[in-house]
Amino acid sequence: MSASASDCLFCRIVAGEIPATIVHSDDRTVAFRDINPQAPTHVLVVPREHHPNAAALAAEAPELLVEVMRAGAAVAEREGVAASGYRLLFNTGADAGQTVFHAHLHVIGGERLGGMAQ
Ligand code: 5GP
Repeated sequence: MSASASDCLFCRIVAGEIPATIVHSDDRTVAFRDINPQAPTHVLVVPREHHPNAAALAAEAPELLVEVMRAGAAVAEREGVAASGYRLLFNTGADAGQTVFHAHLHVIGGERLGGMAQ
C-alpha cells in the first residue's frame, strides 16, 4: 500500500488532478460516476489510499474495505436504487476485467441487471 501513486488514474482523481463527477467524499473514500456507465446508476467508490485491488485492500486495511462497502451502500441509497436492488462488484485482476489497478467498488443499478458481470 502507498498513500498515492503518481501514475495511478484513480489516485489522480482523488487528488483532484483529473476531473470526475464526485457523488460522495469523506476522509477515507471518494465516489464518482463511471465515465462509461453500464446502467443508469454506475458509480465507482475508491479508498483515498492506493491499494491495487480489493484482495490487497482486504489484506492490508480490512477496516477500509468496510468503509468502501458502507460508502457504496450510502451511494445506492442516495441514487434511489437501494429499494429496487443494485450490484456491488470488485473486478480483481486482468482475467476479471480489472483495467484500473486502484481498488474500486462498482455500484450498479437503476434497471433490471442481467448475468453476473457488469
Ligand atoms: P474495472 O474494469 O477496472 O473494474 O473498472 C474501471 C472502470 O473505470 C471502468 O468501468 C471505466 O469505465 C472507468 N474509468 C476508466 N477511466 C475513467 C476515468 O477517467 N474517469 C471515470 N470517471 N471513470 C473511468
